Amino acid sequence: MNQRDSEQVAQMFTDGGYTVTQDEFDADAILVNTCSVRDQAEQKALGKMGIMGRHRQRKPHVVYGFMGCMAQSRGEELFKNIPHLDVVVGTQKYHKVFRYVDDILQSRIERRMDDLSTVFKGHEICDIEEEEDSQNTIKDHIPKDYQASAFVSIMQGCNMKCSYCIVPDTRGRERGRPISDILSEVRGLRDKGVREVTLLGQIVNLYGRTEFEKVDGKSPFVQLLEQVHEIEGIERIRFTSPHPIGYRQDLIDAFTYLPKLASHIHFPMQSGSDRILKLMRRPYKNERFIEICEKMKTARPDLAITTDIIVGFPGETEQDFQDTVNCVKQLEFDNCFVFRYSQRKDTPAAEMELQLPESVKEERNQELLTVVNQLAIAKNNALVGTTQQVLCEGPSKTKQSTLSGRTSQNKIVIFEGSPERMTGQLLDIKIESSTGFTLYGTPVLDPVSAH
Ligand code: SAH
Ligand code: SF4
Repeated sequence: MNQRDSEQVAQMFTDGGYTVTQDEFDADAILVNTCSVRDQAEQKALGKMGIMGRHRQRKPHVVYGFMGCMAQSRGEELFKNIPHLDVVVGTQKYHKVFRYVDDILQSRIERRMDDLSTVFKGHEICDIEEEEDSQNTIKDHIPKDYQASAFVSIMQGCNMKCSYCIVPDTRGRERGRPISDILSEVRGLRDKGVREVTLLGQIVNLYGRTEFEKVDGKSPFVQLLEQVHEIEGIERIRFTSPHPIGYRQDLIDAFTYLPKLASHIHFPMQSGSDRILKLMRRPYKNERFIEICEKMKTARPDLAITTDIIVGFPGETEQDFQDTVNCVKQLEFDNCFVFRYSQRKDTPAAEMELQLPESVKEERNQELLTVVNQLAIAKNNALVGTTQQVLCEGPSKTKQSTLSGRTSQNKIVIFEGSPERMTGQLLDIKIESSTGFTLYGTPVLDPVSAH
């Protein structure tokens, strides 16, 4: 989601005549989009902003800004500790960042003409108000050569109140975009060569429930999936993240009649213990979570499921934790993001007694990761010898001379080939080996395209 918001801001700067630099040393404005979900993410953003202040000595006009969740939750307070900071812009104001930064930059450049020795102090614009219709402002994309896959933000905010989570505070109430706007964004992406879209929302399957009606027993989200499915040239559809609440039969059935829906869901479980789920204020039982996974595997037998799990929630006993481990083994997730519980400001869980020591969180983190990694490696090994349809995304990040892409199950595959000819194409790749988390293969070229 943050990546998508950053793209939107970058596009506004590009439209305004700026260029995105590869190196922060070359930049006239440095913006850090921040996440607040865990403390670690905030510390990293603060550290990075601190270090980057050194560019001000070399280039006094550089504008510094924080955007996103940490900007939203800390607001003005950020200026106190970071003297070079100019702009703090919250999660409903991404569309205003360009104006703020451009105005400051222009005025600094003009003043510098008069007095080259001016040392600029922070300008201190802080805009973290709510803004009606802000969900409709994340809609533009940077046209890249050969972009195969793109994110599309379909809603903002969250109305749940998970006791550990800062998102409802930083992102506001749930607000969906109109289906027609989303469809025209997807068509625009298709026209630029995009073949796969990932629809984004905090509880993506609840999309539009407050704004739009059910039709023939189908939720607005399923209606949206059906309409995106009709767009010619879009070959794959993904979404993230769904929640057990509102994960009904219409969505399960969609996987039987919408073949463009990829065979993967990222479905956060958080805990395998009902007691902890209750303390987390997650309104479902473990049994319900398992039931949805099983129905989904029946609807789509090759479905890969990945998840998020928090370990070391306040009061989590060894038994609660083992319930989680057992559930992970039972469901055989393809992969899991395991998070150590992080106390967040103004959340009910932060006030709970029985906060666990970091050492216990770390032990559980390691134990669970061992199980998760074993499962993930076994799942990948089982694919060796099969042929998978891979959407080629271009040169691999780790080794430029090879190409990389993803299977329908969202597994990364590395292979050799021509970036010009293959990027953006769906290719059949014979999987030859697996090193843990990455698959390696060779394109199976049909006799026509081989020439
Ligand atoms: N809306 C999504 C989750 C978004 S946040 C959902 O409800 O499924 C992404 C993940 O961060 C969560 O799934 C959770 O596992 C993790 N997370 C959120 N708050 C956290 C906290 N305080 N400490 C540790 N992990 C947290
Ligand atoms: Fe946070 Fe819960 Fe909303 Fe997800 S559903 S964003 S975890 S409050």
